[in-house]
Amino acid sequence: MESQKQFKRRFSFEFFPPKTDKGKEKLQKVRDRLAEVNPDFFSVTFGAGGSTRDRTIETVLGLHKQGISTAPHLSCVGGTREAIGELLDVYQKSGINRIVALRGDMPSGMGAAGELRYANELVEFIRERTGDTFNLEVAAYPEFHPQARNAEEDLKNFARKVQAGANSAITQYFFNADSYFYFIDRLEKMNITIPVVPGIMPIVNFTNLVRFSDMCGAEIPRWIRKQLEAYGDDSESIRKFGEEVVTRMCEKLLSAGAPGLHFYTLNQAEASLAVWKNLGLDDQKKIAF
Ligand code: FAD
Repeated sequence: MESQKQFKRRFSFEFFPPKTDKGKEKLQKVRDRLAEVNPDFFSVTFGAGGSTRDRTIETVLGLHKQGISTAPHLSCVGGTREAIGELLDVYQKSGINRIVALRGDMPSGMGAAGELRYANELVEFIRERTGDTFNLEVAAYPEFHPQARNAEEDLKNFARKVQAGANSAITQYFFNADSYFYFIDRLEKMNITIPVVPGIMPIVNFTNLVRFSDMCGAEIPRWIRKQLEAYGDDSESIRKFGEEVVTRMCEKLLSAGAPGLHFYTLNQAEASLAVWKNLGLDDQKKIAF
């Protein structure tokens, strides 16, 4: 973990672009709650194939204007260089300085792969077109990407994104801190020393968590799964237990030198804020945990 300790810690919250007016109102309230703790940035997801293009732009620019730096996610699957270039122009003109660059997942049966096949090609394209305008974040998978040919190939593919010009990475969520520590160890042996910020999924709803985790290849350890199962419909116990488990893992990660945390908020403030509060992350402690 030595390589990670040199980086300034950064804390961020991720949203998805709301579909309805009610969703927009809700996000505004969530944004206001989370802005109070002064995160380094917000980020907004992007539906693969451009399905949320306009909503992502609207949400990003709306949040950015309100004073907290906001990073759009941008995925290349199903897209053309021209369409991605247009998006980059919009962001560049609006003073956006950070992009989360991804391949994305095309829903099955929906169109061709697109002109850029993998995230390393997207990073290369953004660098060619816009130089150093954007700080580029890429995705990292401490438990390995579900489609990777094998773990070694996945690490090499991660290295390709760094070689193409990624500045830093955010991980897929995990509930086993050792997978993150091992991943960083492997990167260090490959002389890769960019910040790799753990992505944190607060636990609020067991059914949704299982569904997401099955899709993205994140493992829910048996002891957590069994305990959550046992709580059944008792959402208060699930919340309390989830908060404790996630707080403990974050403490372990930060104490070992993780360069910050990125919360997958699912457009809800309270679960992320509860962990934040338990960690005592006021401005002072953000630096010296
Ligand atoms: P890549 O890095 O391209 O990797 C994809 C797979 O291909 C891996 O198995 C890798 O090993 C393999 N691979 C990579 N390069 C090569 C190569 N050159 N040759 C052969 N194989 C290769 N999805 C969305 O749709 N919208 C979002 O907003 C979004 N946000 C995310 C944010 C974070 C922080 C994370 C961790 C994930 C996010 N995702 C999002 C999910 C992500 O798009 C999927 O996990 C997707 O399957 C892979 O994207 P990637 O950028 O990691 O792809």
